[in-house]
Amino acid sequence: MPDTYICLGSNLGNRTEHLTAARGAIIARVGAITAESSIYDTAPWGPVPQDNYLNQVVRVSTALAPRELLGVLHEIERAAGRDRKNEVRYGPRPLDLDILLYGDRAVKEDGLTIPHPRIAERAFVLVPLAEIAPKLSIAGERAEKLLSRIDTTGVRRFDPV
Ligand code: ADP
Ligand code: MG
Repeated sequence: MPDTYICLGSNLGNRTEHLTAARGAIIARVGAITAESSIYDTAPWGPVPQDNYLNQVVRVSTALAPRELLGVLHEIERAAGRDRKNEVRYGPRPLDLDILLYGDRAVKEDGLTIPHPRIAERAFVLVPLAEIAPKLSIAGERAEKLLSRIDTTGVRRFDPV
């Protein structure tokens, strides 16, 4: 079964609980989690001022095809209270689940691009991804190499009190 890498993010409500519930739903509906990064507290990315996120990357062995996987991830987001129709683009959300990679497949369809097109510019993705898979190739470049090129000052390991 292919390995897929999924980035989890939350910046609304109880962020730790949203990530915990999402990992549970992924195991139940997507497949076994075979690696998981630490959780990071990260500065928000993009044009909208908002609170920090918690982010984590997991590796999952899945029997779902990419499109089915995206549909299931959207359902898991909805169960966390996310309402895509009424939200601000790149604004706060209780849960964001992004497909970073799916085996060595490249997908370019309406509403689904794999590898995720913004991996190389997002420290909140690359730090946890390189933690669990430094040698992983993303469009021909290793995760650790991509990471060495970007500013990671907004990304800190999250220590729950
Ligand atoms: P982002 O995750 O970049 O902050 P959103 O969560 O608002 O943005 O997602 C916007 C759209 O991105 C979704 O409707 C989804 O269809 C699309 N999308 C394209 N490729 C992917 C992918 N690899 N993983 C998740 N969503 C994707
Ligand atoms: Mg998303």
